Amino acid sequence: MARRAIVAANWKMNGGLALINTIIDGLTSVELQENVDVVICPSFPFLSELISQAKVNKLDKVIHVGAQNISAHESGAYTGEVSTQMLQELSVEFAIIGHSERRSYYKETSTQIAHKVNAALKAGITPILCIGESEAERVAEQTETVLASQLQPVIDEVGIEKFIDVVIAYEPVWAIGTGKTASSEMAQETHKFIRQFLAKVNANVADKVPLLYGGSVNASNCEELFAQPDIDGGLIGGASLQVEQFKVICSTAKGK
Ligand code: PEP
Repeated sequence: MARRAIVAANWKMNGGLALINTIIDGLTSVELQENVDVVICPSFPFLSELISQAKVNKLDKVIHVGAQNISAHESGAYTGEVSTQMLQELSVEFAIIGHSERRSYYKETSTQIAHKVNAALKAGITPILCIGESEAERVAEQTETVLASQLQPVIDEVGIEKFIDVVIAYEPVWAIGTGKTASSEMAQETHKFIRQFLAKVNANVADKVPLLYGGSVNASNCEELFAQPDIDGGLIGGASLQVEQFKVICSTAKGK
């Protein structure tokens, strides 16, 4: 079964109208290989502008738009939160959920993250579920235990069959924004573990779920990482703000 590749840009709390113009200009000339989706995730205030710029510039088949977070609640007295219904109204297609910065700075638990994944799926928004171990956990050989503990609550909440509509981003916390990338062998080994973990519950679903690698991916290391059999693209932070680098990363990805 063919799996699409996904290259998702996490702009975090960076960028604005100027970066939207630059990315639109840049992606106008990008040459993508077969079965690749490019997803750009700006901050909430810029979702609408990015969607309309992509449309006006006839890039709406190339650029998919994602949020960086969502609320698990449908509506109501949740000051500062953004619901899936609001994102649906804007035609936002993806949402990053459970990024390590949300887990660590905002104390989001795997149970809360499971509720968010459920809310996204119910709204027809594809969750990009982020999981990953800290450096101390890797050193203590706890990586697989940590990843299992991050995945299981989501499987329990939404059911394995729904994972057919989920994208998983494996992002070792020690590699995010640090310039330290997991070696391609290490990344592949961990992606393989994630796929096998899902396969124990449903092999068919496990085979179809796109698994992205994230953590200091750049124009120089993406080719080796994306060539690994269980790596279906990347979640890109810093390098997604540099459009020339991002273009190289996008054009390197290829569906499997
Ligand atoms: C991220 O924040 O999801 C990320 C992978 O960042 P960077 O590429 O900068 O390590």
